[in-house]
Amino acid sequence: MASQIIREWAGINAFALATQTKLLELLGTLKQENVNTLTILVMGKGGVGKSSTVNSIIGERVVSVSPFTSEAPRPVTVSRTRAGFTLNIIDTPGLIEGGYVNDIALELIKRSLLNKTIDVLLYVDRLDAHRADDLDKLVAKSITDTFGKEIWNKALIALTHAQFLPPDELPYDEFFSKRSEALLKVVRLGARIREDSSLTSSIPVVLVENSGKCHKNESDEKILPNGTAWIPDLVQKITEIALNKQASIYVDKKLIEGPNPNERGKLWIPLILCSNTSLL
Ligand code: GDP
Ligand code: MG
Repeated sequence: MASQIIREWAGINAFALATQTKLLELLGTLKQENVNTLTILVMGKGGVGKSSTVNSIIGERVVSVSPFTSEAPRPVTVSRTRAGFTLNIIDTPGLIEGGYVNDIALELIKRSLLNKTIDVLLYVDRLDAHRADDLDKLVAKSITDTFGKEIWNKALIALTHAQFLPPDELPYDEFFSKRSEALLKVVRLGARIREDSSLTSSIPVVLVENSGKCHKNESDEKILPNGTAWIPDLVQKITEIALNKQASIYVDKKLIEGPNPNERGKLWIPLILCSNTSLL
């Protein structure tokens, strides 16, 4: 296969100067730690803003965005390079379709990741949803069944539609923290991670506003209702996860296909031998 020419990350130049400066600083931090490539896997239900978030990070309209459910059926990898650093973002189809887990999409996602390394899982949902439910649990379960619990060591939750007025005059930050807690709880349940495990308590939650109507500060940076410039904040959290000392997830054949049935049989042999020995 011809080697792919990776395009320059020109979209950075379209950001406000203050945002550009912070992003280049973060890329510098990664390079200092010898991280020259970063692969981000974007997952979540359909219509939550996954593709829009990919476009926001790249700073260009690279993947198609739709207000309706029909998304691109296959994962799409977007790669950009800047000053010797390569960013790969994998946009994926929604994992929930008509109330069920989209197994075909999941299978295509798995296969497209063969021999790749996931450095960060960007799990996307909406801030302006009032309930975390069984579907969220199912999504977390599917991700865990596919990549193993360890994927949550490398996860970051992004909540879109962040330019939003909470109901019942709840303060914005209070609504954000309640929504985050509720979502983390179902992720923990779906992934079967114990409440006291450090796995989910350390998953950061960030806010995203992809709309063109996003407010801006005096430096022309896109900001959230609480004043945070969200693009540098998101990239900072991505950087922290990439550098968090936990292993990235390498997707090999074994991970994709699950334990080989023959191997599964072999696993029982030492167990049987052990139980026999203990009887002696
Ligand atoms: P995906 O199915 O998860 O990839 O979601 P898309 O990125 O295609 O977005 C679905 C719809 O939500 C589109 O109409 C987007 O314009 C809209 N959308 C996505 N993110 C945001 C956001 O942060 N704020 C607002 N207001 N709309 C958004
Ligand atoms: Mg999409």
